[in-house]
Amino acid sequence: MGHHNSYPMKTLINLTLILTMLSMMACAQKGNKEQANSIKQNNKTMSDSIIKSDEDWKKQLTPEQFDVTRKKGTERAFSNKYWDNHKQGTYYCICCGKPLFSSKTKFDSGTGWPSFFAPLDSNNVKNNVDKTYGMERVEVVCNHCGAHLGHVFDDGPEPTHLRYCMNSASLDFKEEK
Ligand SMILES: [Zn+2]
Repeated sequence: MGHHNSYPMKTLINLTLILTMLSMMACAQKGNKEQANSIKQNNKTMSDSIIKSDEDWKKQLTPEQFDVTRKKGTERAFSNKYWDNHKQGTYYCICCGKPLFSSKTKFDSGTGWPSFFAPLDSNNVKNNVDKTYGMERVEVVCNHCGAHLGHVFDDGPEPTHLRYCMNSASLDFKEEK
């Protein structure tokens, strides 16, 4: 029976849910350092990946957008498109158009880059440990096309205490009134 076959999977999902809840409770009790570790463990496999050559990306992106999203560059603080944008709307991936962040979770971080305390849908972003430049940071990429977006830190505001420090060059804002 089909019903019978699906039972082990259901148990697995329930177990995963319980484990997730337990780890969330643990995070709330422990300090920010533990929370940073749970950020790192948030590794997913790319679901429906877009694979394009550098040449193809260069055709659709400006040189700065290409450098940031495909070569993990960082744009300059305070002289980028969205750090001081206070309009209501959605920020989409500049490469593939997936909705990544909402103005509802944007906050003034003082860093000069657009900063958010949560992604719009956690399935649309993926975290990778980044050990370049002698630091250990958590890189954030688009889960659909692999575009480098920025980094996530554990010094953000309530309710998540996360700070998604993003590059404007990775984002395409569309206003919604
Ligand atoms: Zn993308």
